[in-house]
Amino acid sequence: MKALLALLIWAAPAVAAPTLLRPAQVWDGSAMHPGWAVLIDGDKIVAAGPTVAAPGDAQVIELAGATLMPGMIEGHAHLFLHPYNETSWNDQVLHEPLALRTVRATNAARVTLQAGFTTVRDLGTEGAGYADVGLKAAIDQGLTPGPRMLVATRALVATGSYGPKGFDPGVEVPQGAEEADGTALVVAARRQIGRGADVVKLYADYRWQPGEPNRPTFSQAEMAAVVAAAHDAGRKVAAHAYSAEAMRRATLAGVDSIEHGGGGTPEVFKLMAAHQVTFCPTLAASDAVARNRGWNGAEPAPEAVRDARAALVKARAAGVVICVGGDVGVFAHGSNAREVELLVAAGMPATEALHAVTAGNADSFGVGDKVGRISPGLLADIVVVDGDPLADVAVLRKVRLVIKGGATVGR
Ligand SMILES: [Zn+2]
Repeated sequence: MKALLALLIWAAPAVAAPTLLRPAQVWDGSAMHPGWAVLIDGDKIVAAGPTVAAPGDAQVIELAGATLMPGMIEGHAHLFLHPYNETSWNDQVLHEPLALRTVRATNAARVTLQAGFTTVRDLGTEGAGYADVGLKAAIDQGLTPGPRMLVATRALVATGSYGPKGFDPGVEVPQGAEEADGTALVVAARRQIGRGADVVKLYADYRWQPGEPNRPTFSQAEMAAVVAAAHDAGRKVAAHAYSAEAMRRATLAGVDSIEHGGGGTPEVFKLMAAHQVTFCPTLAASDAVARNRGWNGAEPAPEAVRDARAALVKARAAGVVICVGGDVGVFAHGSNAREVELLVAAGMPATEALHAVTAGNADSFGVGDKVGRISPGLLADIVVVDGDPLADVAVLRKVRLVIKGGATVGR
């Protein structure tokens, strides 16, 4: 009864099963197919192709002029952050009550889903403890609308390396992630996994003091040990790293993805390709931070923006798998498609960007057997946009319909 009530309250006018969707074309995760139709039943996709035989009782939804795609996958989110031009990161971590942050995150989850992102890899609550585990449970129980979540909980930083900083050194200031080193790093990762982390996030470098360059935090041995522990537990590892040395260590330690990477060299991207490490260039984050500091978008762009673009180019040249993850939270939730737009603007072909934000991310995060493709047997997580995203990637923001697990998402 409770579950039924929740379903009614949350305006998920469930799609009456079975349902035949007839768009102008279907992006299946790898290629565009004009004239295809898609049949869904219950929470699954049951058929897709040029000639789909629908049962007589099937509801038919005509979607003329539209492109049907797998629900998009956000590769790098912080649902528990909101844009820094609203409130600085320090103030969010130190001054905002946990309940306030959780309510904000709940809203962020809803607008993310409405924007067509049906799965999110959330890479750390930034001081909001394990609240992501609770938010994920609330979404899964139908209490509030949101994407499927892969959560990192508190994330891991080397003692003294992270923030907030700038206080009397004798004062213990709450940090934006869990500090742990040496063998305690493995203990902390296991504790986070035990409390609900789907993915382990660690910061392989950071600015030890404001104004300093990014320098390595964890040693090679520390990272190797924590990655082994995470992999034993069936968890993938995401490493924050800007400097080539931290990227090199993280790669040799066996991490699954590297985030940011503005200082990456051709050599380190070659190493990443050889070790099958996915790269998340987070172009939208550098872009947003630069604009907050007064950049008007004119070229030449600030150095950090150019570094991020150059890293993408070097990574693609080396054959590294690119993840789509904007570090959303630094900029407004619901504008997740910004990262796809910037990837294309920086030279990534639209077909590759569209693959990355659907099937590519799904495979990189180990969920490709459930989501990320329009394929029989996979979950009916679907977004329908007006127009052709291969001709104009901006139409990813023109969302006409979102379906998650076979249920229409209320708008
Ligand atoms: Zn981040």
